[in-house]
Amino acid sequence: HAKSGPARGWALFDDELGDALRERALLAAELRDAVHCNTLLPFFQPILKIETGELIGFEVLARWQRGDKGFVAPDVFIPLAEELGLIDRLSDQLLRRCCAAMASWDPKLSISFNLSPRQLNHAGLAKRIGRILDEAGIPGSRLAIEITETAVFIDMDRARQVISELRALGVRVSLDDFGIGTSSLAVLSQLPFDTIKIDRSFISDIEHNPQNAKIVRGVLALARSLELTVTAEGIESDEDLAFLKTNNCVQGQGYFFSRPVPEDALPQLVDDVARAAAIMRGEIAELP
Ligand code: C2E
Ligand code: MG
Ligand code: MG
Ligand code: MG
Repeated sequence: HAKSGPARGWALFDDELGDALRERALLAAELRDAVHCNTLLPFFQPILKIETGELIGFEVLARWQRGDKGFVAPDVFIPLAEELGLIDRLSDQLLRRCCAAMASWDPKLSISFNLSPRQLNHAGLAKRIGRILDEAGIPGSRLAIEITETAVFIDMDRARQVISELRALGVRVSLDDFGIGTSSLAVLSQLPFDTIKIDRSFISDIEHNPQNAKIVRGVLALARSLELTVTAEGIESDEDLAFLKTNNCVQGQGYFFSRPVPEDALPQLVDDVARAAAIMRGEIAELP
């Protein structure tokens, strides 16, 4: 970097741009490798029945351990995988891995699996998912697919078709991040969802935010009248939980229960959740 004179500013800019492009190319190449070698991991976050504390299953959240650089967040690598045309392959790998894991679980437990916007437009999505379930011997009823509002909005007709195909497999379909999109009500009126997931921005501060509290009560009433199940995301405190319990929200997830964990931590997590539920029901005493 031995630059001087009037061109110095531009040279610096070029360097920074060059660095950013190089870093991105490197990230892309490493992501290609990771998908090629099937090294992306599913992490699991528990989803519980709020009234009883009973474990229903887990949301699957993709994690990429990038060498010694630590975990890369899905918000970074999922859009990149879409751009690189790797998303279907990545998604199928993750789902296969989850189905393999599920074979050894209590059959009452299900998974909730995120699909990204562009996957909805890819032909044969439901057929591929059906095949993966079949090969693993997992019934469709143990799978829910989460779709975000923005994704759905791209093409309503296409979305309706894909959702119907998934439901024909017995797979439930959830509207993710409900409330922060642009067309929540239009989407609900036109598409046959089973569940809505209230975005965590409405939940995680609910005890200090009367406006959000009113909105969430309204969403819960709306869901009841549409006969939809509700999952509250982002439960971070016992106050968040108490509010949702008082207002009869059926399902929830959040750091208060557990962060997403790797597969090998699941047996311990399942035990912990069962113990917490038993304490809640008064069946066993809390440890001093
Ligand atoms: P999402 O589907 O809405 O998932 C919930 C996100 O909130 C996750 O972030 C989760 O770790 C985080 N979270 C859960 N509980 C709490 C809480 O109590 N407080 C806070 N602050 N955060 C909480 P994560 O794992 O970083 O995933 C981000 C997004 O990336 C997901 O949002 C989802 O849209 C996407 N994603 C993750 N895995 C996949 C995947 O396999 N495929 C696709 N297409 N998208 C994925
Ligand atoms: Mg989700
Ligand atoms: Mg969400
Ligand atoms: Mg809170």
